[in-house]
Amino acid sequence: MKGFRGKILVVDLSTQNITIEPLKEEIAKDFLGGAGYAVRYLYGLIDKDTDPLGPDNPLFFMTGPLTGTIAPTAGRWVVCAKSPLTNIWGESNCGGFFGAEIKFSGFDGILLLGASEQPVYLYITEKVQELRDATNLWGLGTYETHKRLKEAVKDNLARVACIGPAGENLVKYAHICTDERAAGRTGMGAIMGSKKVKAMVVRGKKQVDLVNPEQFNQLARELHKEVMEIFTNQMFQDLGTSGAVDMYNYRGELPIKYWTQGEFDGAYSISGASMKETILVKNSHCFACPIGCGRVVNIKEGKYKTPGNIKGPEYETVAGYGSQILNDNIEAIAKANYLCNDWGLDTISSSTVIAFVYYLFDKGVITAKELDGITPQWGDPDAALELIRKIALREGIGDVLAEGADAVGRKFHVDPDEIATVAKIEIPYHDLRSTFGMAIAYAASPRGADHNSCDMYQTSLGQPFPEVDIVSPDHFDESTEMTDACARLQDYRTFYSTVIMCLFCNPSPSSIGRLLTYATGLEIGIPEIKKIGERVLNMKRLFNVKMGRTSDWDRLPAIVTNPLPEGGAAGKSPDWKKMLKQFYAFRKWDLKTGTPTKEKLEELGLHSL
Ligand code: SF4
Repeated sequence: MKGFRGKILVVDLSTQNITIEPLKEEIAKDFLGGAGYAVRYLYGLIDKDTDPLGPDNPLFFMTGPLTGTIAPTAGRWVVCAKSPLTNIWGESNCGGFFGAEIKFSGFDGILLLGASEQPVYLYITEKVQELRDATNLWGLGTYETHKRLKEAVKDNLARVACIGPAGENLVKYAHICTDERAAGRTGMGAIMGSKKVKAMVVRGKKQVDLVNPEQFNQLARELHKEVMEIFTNQMFQDLGTSGAVDMYNYRGELPIKYWTQGEFDGAYSISGASMKETILVKNSHCFACPIGCGRVVNIKEGKYKTPGNIKGPEYETVAGYGSQILNDNIEAIAKANYLCNDWGLDTISSSTVIAFVYYLFDKGVITAKELDGITPQWGDPDAALELIRKIALREGIGDVLAEGADAVGRKFHVDPDEIATVAKIEIPYHDLRSTFGMAIAYAASPRGADHNSCDMYQTSLGQPFPEVDIVSPDHFDESTEMTDACARLQDYRTFYSTVIMCLFCNPSPSSIGRLLTYATGLEIGIPEIKKIGERVLNMKRLFNVKMGRTSDWDRLPAIVTNPLPEGGAAGKSPDWKKMLKQFYAFRKWDLKTGTPTKEKLEELGLHSL
């Protein structure tokens, strides 16, 4: 099938055997590529007893049918497995150039099986696919690893995805880092570390074959212009994803002081505008992206001095290492971002764990003695910088923090309602008290709390998708209008994860369908877009049911639902239990267990599972 390469590279690390497997077209027709293909493929290979950090947990890097084409934001890839942080569906979607390079090298995806005894890296071109010794890279940060591997293969244009010491040390929220971006969520870097794979280096030159290249390219060029007419994309280009920090602060959407405060005086100091006025060098673009929301920053002097130009922080990092610990120093945030990238940590999970430590220290639950002498005081970022290193190395208290916020809470006998996680994953930084739809995004997404699978914080700001029946409800709406919109948006973003497209890129759904038809020859109109999204979303739910997830996991801790006394969402909090019931009913999921009903599975062609 065109658009796809038709080949998956299968690497058995236990035997060091590398084979090429044909893409299963029967899966691709119903689930497309990316996370859709991965969840259907992995469903039969993993069960409740599979150890996420054992050799039996396959790690699947997958692209989509648009990856590597000139469609806007078509450089994306996804990495999927059973998550070591949550023990359920793990998925991390990433930009940069690595995904396109996988396609150029002749493959749709790379499946890592088993585990190597010695550190290795995987080198992939159109002609060569081999494992190479990585003993001399083990222990290095991601920046040095990138540099050395490009030197080793004598190709500065080779694309590298690697782990840092955090992945090697099996930190449960370790990320995988590419040149420009990181696959941060659900601990995929720890799985790579458990398999002793330090990196993958990919280089290819083969353009993606399309069924109708002329029409595809013409439409893609039009869409590059169209998406730049969207106001938020102009803002992202100018100010980055943290361009909206001021507005989020005003609306009560910015999480502050570990979710316990409604306003932050330092919001402007950490905003995208402030970054632009101080440390920004330029913006950066992922492959084929006209938006370029990425930041490149440089701090030339002082204690947060950087080694030249480095990747700048995104919104989630700004909130996590800024307002969540009352830090208004943008340079310290940039430094935290640099350290997380280099050591190999997800910035959302790590900053939540660290803000939780500040909170517990403030309450006297944890003392400096238990923190190896560190005294995390609100507003002081230096303790956070030290904790990042300790987590990555599992040094002292870092060994506890490396297990995630849930484990920290258990260790110090904290009430679960004070732990900002859902299904064991740390909650991202769009406060649901300001945007009620985020209650569904956090309580009932396949990978636990997730801002990407249902970005109602954007939709309720005035970004509806009428073609796929997604309205833009009032942000304090908790009626079925909101919960139905959440379910439909979840389906639509799940469809995105199969294509794969960046969720900041929002051409009309029918245009994406036409791109797919011109690329693959599959007839993909609005009904198919809706159906594929819903099928894949339910498939992920089935995966989680198989792993033992029940409706008991779909809960929100009080720390993120207690009404706050001040700010744009003062006194507000959704009745999330009522919303969840409405959501289950719309989805035709069993109201008690949260499992898709037989009727729904039959409707989606999943009844045999
Ligand atoms: S909008 Fe930003 S994250 Fe998305 S593809 Fe473009 S540069 Fe990458």
